[in-house]
Parts: sequence; C-alpha cells; structure tokens
Amino acid sequence: MKEKYLLHCPGCGRLFPDHYTLDCPGGCDALLRAVYAERRLILKDLPGIFRYSGWLPIEGHLPIDAGPVSYESVGLARELGVPHLTITFSGYWPERGAGMETCSFKELEAQPTALRLREKGAGIIQVSSAGNTGRAFCQVSGLTGTPVVVVVPTPAADRLWTTVPAENVCLITIDGDYSDSIAFGREVCKLPGIVPEGGAKNVARRDGMGTVMLDGAVSAGRLPDYYFQAVGSGTGGIAAWEAAERLIADGRFGSRLPELHLSQNLPFVPMVRAHEAGRRDIVPSEDMPDPEASIARVSADVLTNRHPPWGIRGGVFDALAASGGRMYAVTNEEAQDAGRLFAEIEGIDLDPAAAVAVASLACAVNERFIDPEKHVLLNVTGGGYERAAEDLDRHLIEPFTRVRAGAGLDGSLRDDILEWVSEQGVAVRA
Ligand SMILES: *Cc1c(COP(=O)(O)O)cnc(C)c1O
Ligand SMILES: [Zn+2]
Repeated sequence: MKEKYLLHCPGCGRLFPDHYTLDCPGGCDALLRAVYAERRLILKDLPGIFRYSGWLPIEGHLPIDAGPVSYESVGLARELGVPHLTITFSGYWPERGAGMETCSFKELEAQPTALRLREKGAGIIQVSSAGNTGRAFCQVSGLTGTPVVVVVPTPAADRLWTTVPAENVCLITIDGDYSDSIAFGREVCKLPGIVPEGGAKNVARRDGMGTVMLDGAVSAGRLPDYYFQAVGSGTGGIAAWEAAERLIADGRFGSRLPELHLSQNLPFVPMVRAHEAGRRDIVPSEDMPDPEASIARVSADVLTNRHPPWGIRGGVFDALAASGGRMYAVTNEEAQDAGRLFAEIEGIDLDPAAAVAVASLACAVNERFIDPEKHVLLNVTGGGYERAAEDLDRHLIEPFTRVRAGAGLDGSLRDDILEWVSEQGVAVRA
C-alpha cells in the first residue's frame, strides 16, 4: 500500500482511501478504522501529539506543542498500593511539560481533526458543544487560524474560552438546550462548505485520543495490563483498544490487550447499566431513566452523553468484549474525595471527570477487581484549571449571532453565515 493509511470497515471488510469519510460507503453500521502501512510505531522528532503522527490520519503537523504527558506515579501509587502506576496527564501542568491550555484531552482530538479536514479540503468544521470539546476546537482555531462553527445553548456560552485570541470562530448561541443546538448544528451543516466533526466516527478524533495509550506504553516501555478512564461517549476507551491493537502488531510492547476499566458518574450511568445487563443496546427506560434529572445531579457533566457509540460495530461494547475489564459507577462524593487526594499527593487539580477515573481505580484496588502488582495506566483526561487561571489569559468567544430555539436557518442568517464562510478563504473540495 503506497498511501500512509487506508480506511477499513469492520462491517463489510472494505478497504478504501480517506476523503474525510465518516461512514462506510456501503452503509454499514460500523466505526471505520484507519489502517496504517507502517506497522511499527515510529516516533517523530516533533512536539506534542505530532510525535505520534505516524499513526495519525494526517500528512503534516500543526504548530502546537500540546500532547499527553506520562510519568511513573510515586505518591498515588503508594497511597493506593499499586506500585506500577503510569499516569498519562492531558491538561495544563507546566512543571510536567503539559501544555493543553484548555485543560482537557479534547485537544488531542481537535488537533488531528482540524488538520485532517484541512488536508482533505473537506471544508469548515461544525461542533455542537459548550464543554471541553467546544473549547478545544476554539483553542486549536485560535492557534492555527483554522475556522470552526460552534453552536451552543446561550447560557453555556461562557464556558467557551481560549487562552489566545480566536478570530476564526463563528459562535451561534441558541436560546434552548443541547438538543436544540445539535438540531441547529445539523441545519448549519447543510450549507455548502460546512461539515460535521463526526464524533466517534471520526478516525482523527479516535486516533488523537489513542495517543494516550501510545504515550503511556512508550513511557513505561510496555503495554499496561489495565487502562482506567472515565467515559461519557466511550470514544477514549475505543481509541485505547485500537491503539493497543496497533502496539501489539508492532511487537515490541507486549502481546496482550489491556483490560478496559471505564467509569461513569452516578446517577447517570447508561453504559454501566447496559454492561451489567450484558446488552449490546442501551435501553433508555432501564439504563437512563429520567435523564434530565440524573444529568443535573452528576458532578462531571462531560460524562453525560445520551447517545454513546455503545452497540455500533467497533464501539464500546466490542472494545470491552475484546479486552475484558469492567465498568464502574462512581458517586459525586467518591469523585470529590479522589480529586482532593490526587491534588494533595500528585500536586494538580483535576477535571471532575478525571476525578471519577481516580475514584474507580481506588475502588478496583479495594474490591480486588485488579491484581495490584500488575501495570496500570491511568488516563487523567483533564486538569490544571486552577493553574491555568493563574498563569494564562482568558478570551471569551464573542457570539456571531443568537437565535431562538426551534428557529430554522432563515434566509438572512444563511447569507450571513455563507459570507463568513467565504471570508475564511478555505478551499473546499467540490
Ligand atoms: C470528554 C471527556 C471525557 C470522556 O471522554 P470519552 O472518551 O469521549 O467518553 C473524560 N474526561 C474529560 C475531561 C473529558 O473532557
Ligand atoms: Zn462497510
């Protein structure tokens, strides 16, 4: 194969070149995967995530030096009684060389996604998130000039900040909730030149997140036996499984898939429930009864995805089935205690979701779900907000326009957005 990578559909087995393809051309309900010609992981002499660009679906790199940072834990390892604990941290922690200034591993997704889109000439990306994903895409936009359209509920717009000015963000706020912004985002993607980011279906997002497994394994010199992460969509768990399979094929890191130990925050734990019931589908009435009320009560709201890629071929269900492992339901109190402990002994504040993962590791040790002598990789998916607030500038994104819930994309707004698109000077493949 002369291409750096091809896309593979696990549904029908087809192999084909990437045109920023998010779905199997044959219509399979399956997550496409990137298959790289280079079976060995070749580390590049590039900063941040681009060190792993050999296994990213991109040709070049961006002038950004933020990537995952791994180290052997001493304090938490001793406290929990797991002597072989690698922590892979994504966030802001200058003493450890961690420079994700929006403080979460969503920057690992945003960087290769923005670049893949640009290289494929696919257009301008659209994102509906006022959480860590939206902020990460705005930051990458600010650092590289890559335009992005972000649609969010009006009350959540103040969560969209960057640490550098971001002049190429078109922020549309909706006087409604998340479902309204997702629906409006879909309308916006019907305009020529604007494409959806694709979530878990986007191989650049998954392989970007997969660099956590790569970095942890390179740092420890081997694959871990257990991988711990808090999940909302579970995309990071899928990515860890895929990256581990590539490392096994490489041959230098071991031959066993790490068990996936994935956690959610009570009372909203649909994947935990479906996993306990052994079901490939999430049954809303059983697995997430009264979702609004339970979502309102979790401390880690990035973990409250209502439509995770659970049952889809190559999704979280398959990742858990292939790797073994289990799921954890963590209370707010357990997460807060774990976050406090981590800050005390490791020395950095955590995103509430990362605190859920730390709590799940404590639970796994206490309940003897893992052999404490084996190797653990803890994915600390976000942190360093307090440090970032002290050290860095904060730029709030100015809204481009504000619309009513349920409003369609009317003629004049359509024209305004198209004019903004043409001002971005992005070459779009016909
Ligand atoms: C998005 C997010 C998660 C969950 O990631 P998924 O793998 O997409 O479920 C966990 N922690 C933080 C900090 C996040 O931003
Ligand atoms: Zn297919």
